[in-house]
Amino acid sequence: MKQGTRRGALPILAAMHDLPFDLPEFVPGTVWLAGAGPGDPGLLTLLALEALRSADHVVHDALVDPRILALARRGAVIEAMGKRGGHTDSAKQIDITERLVELARQGLRVLRLKGGDPFVFGRGPEEALALAEAGIGFRIVPGITAGIGGLAYAGIPATARDTNSAVAFVTGHGADGEVPDGFDWDALARGAPVLVFYMGLRHLEAMVVRLLAAGRRPDEAVAVVTEAATPRQRVVEATLASVAEAVAVAGLKPPALLVVGPVVALRAKLDWWHPSPL
Ligand code: SAH
Repeated sequence: MKQGTRRGALPILAAMHDLPFDLPEFVPGTVWLAGAGPGDPGLLTLLALEALRSADHVVHDALVDPRILALARRGAVIEAMGKRGGHTDSAKQIDITERLVELARQGLRVLRLKGGDPFVFGRGPEEALALAEAGIGFRIVPGITAGIGGLAYAGIPATARDTNSAVAFVTGHGADGEVPDGFDWDALARGAPVLVFYMGLRHLEAMVVRLLAAGRRPDEAVAVVTEAATPRQRVVEATLASVAEAVAVAGLKPPALLVVGPVVALRAKLDWWHPSPL
């Protein structure tokens, strides 16, 4: 044990696994804003696992896999608070940030756990800003974002040397829930050979119309990956022109990634992961 470690300062993983380095202390009264990755618990970072093992209170969003929540310390309070409808009560963003501040002020170690990476289309920046404004100490624990790790589980690299030297990550939802028109679709369509859309199912048809109008080819390869890196992962390959129908026929549901571009073809050889049946 290192000199000067106290209870709480002794990182739990380090003790368990004899890690040759220190992990930071989860100080009571602070919030760790962490990403849980796209689904597979094996994709957690050491810091996220450490946080789960030591947090007093975990506030998670709807995308965090139950197998990951099961790693929380026994006795920790687990609270669902996410913006997505469906599985959990959809909480207003302001309620979430107020809750985080309130829990931290109670002197608890608060883990705010989000799917993927907390700073990628996940409202993490708003939450961190609120903590900063309230004077609450916080740490950001990046996670593997679905648009990279989730696609990898579908055998689709975000970049490959022979196909693309740029990739754009795009949200399919504007802040108001509508088709995002706050950016230049023509520039987007021309700017990156590979486009990865998050939250892309709701406005799929409208987005396809915009991409075609901006000059992307109707026969361009696309894939839709739902519940990536979970036992329920599904992948549908199509073309830009046929994807809306293919998604409807397959009955695909969110969470889904839409990837457009030549990297999709690599899946023919790189489709390495097959979730075992539930
Ligand atoms: N912070 C998250 C993204 C949150 S926005 C991240 O970095 O991954 C929510 C969107 O993320 C979903 O609508 C979907 O597009 C995508 N997403 C997150 N997890 C996913 C998964 N396991 N499979 C497919 N899409 C996922």
